[in-house]
Amino acid sequence: MGLLVVGSVAFDSVETPFGQAEEVLGGSATYFSTSASYFTDVSLVAVVGEDFPDKHMNFLKMRGIDTRGLERAKGKTFRWQGRYGYDLNEAHTLKTELNVFQHFRPKLPDEYKDAEVVFLANIDPDLQRDVLKQVKSPKVVAADTMNFWIESKKESLLETLRSVDILIINDSEARQLTGEPNLVKAARLIESHGPRTVIVKRGEHGVLMFNGNSVFSAPAYPLEAVFDPTGAGDTFAGGFMGYLSNIRDFSEPGMRKAIVMGSVMASFNVEDFSLNRIRSLEFVEIEVRYREFKRLSHFEDI
Ligand code: AMP
Repeated sequence: MGLLVVGSVAFDSVETPFGQAEEVLGGSATYFSTSASYFTDVSLVAVVGEDFPDKHMNFLKMRGIDTRGLERAKGKTFRWQGRYGYDLNEAHTLKTELNVFQHFRPKLPDEYKDAEVVFLANIDPDLQRDVLKQVKSPKVVAADTMNFWIESKKESLLETLRSVDILIINDSEARQLTGEPNLVKAARLIESHGPRTVIVKRGEHGVLMFNGNSVFSAPAYPLEAVFDPTGAGDTFAGGFMGYLSNIRDFSEPGMRKAIVMGSVMASFNVEDFSLNRIRSLEFVEIEVRYREFKRLSHFEDI
């Protein structure tokens, strides 16, 4: 079951208490598709500028990602600059330069239009809907967003949510979107806008999945050295959606396994800057960490 993603492909400049990186490969769709590529075929929809080097394009192709929907336009690639303090759960955006995304009107290659699983990664909600309209009959649509769009385009975002089955969102953004400080209530409010499943990412505190009356909680992997949390959310989403597309099982037990697979991929990503750690993982490393997750949170009945 192929997976279609629209989102940002970016140059990121990031500062954490442990170091900094200038103009490195980033973007929501880049992290997402790299992570998902370990499990399924991924078709990417995004735009880059004339300054996007071939080595990055070749990397995406080397991961088997279909880049026919990755347009190269006149102008500069999207840029994001952010800083993290000792609380690595909170990114402080210093600068967002939309550049070529400002005038991007995605036109899907015909081969993409039959996609059954669609991920609307963090990008302008107008663009998320532009892409969705071109997909003939998607079976499952999931989405992510961030404070930037909640602040600047809330109405458009709520319109996108009407067509979304699964929303994957940060805890602070769930609160901001709903104006509700309690996460359980915030998730219920989001469900009333369309999504039947709400997945709340809580950084080092793990993930909560609200699915009708059921709630599932997965921990984050207790790493000794977290280097750069940039892209953790997108890498989580890529592991989650990629694994679901692979097993073709969108039931509650299937989604629980996928949540852990997403958490496994995110735990690798934060071990280094940019996509350095998830560029070339061995599948056995993924399996070993998945089992460590199982041991981490397993307990017997009383
Ligand atoms: P995450 O840490 O998972 O929330 O995602 C960080 C990635 O999102 C970075 O690689 C950025 O390039 C990208 N990003 C930051 N702001 C935006 C935005 N407003 N729209 C789209 N992508 C963004």
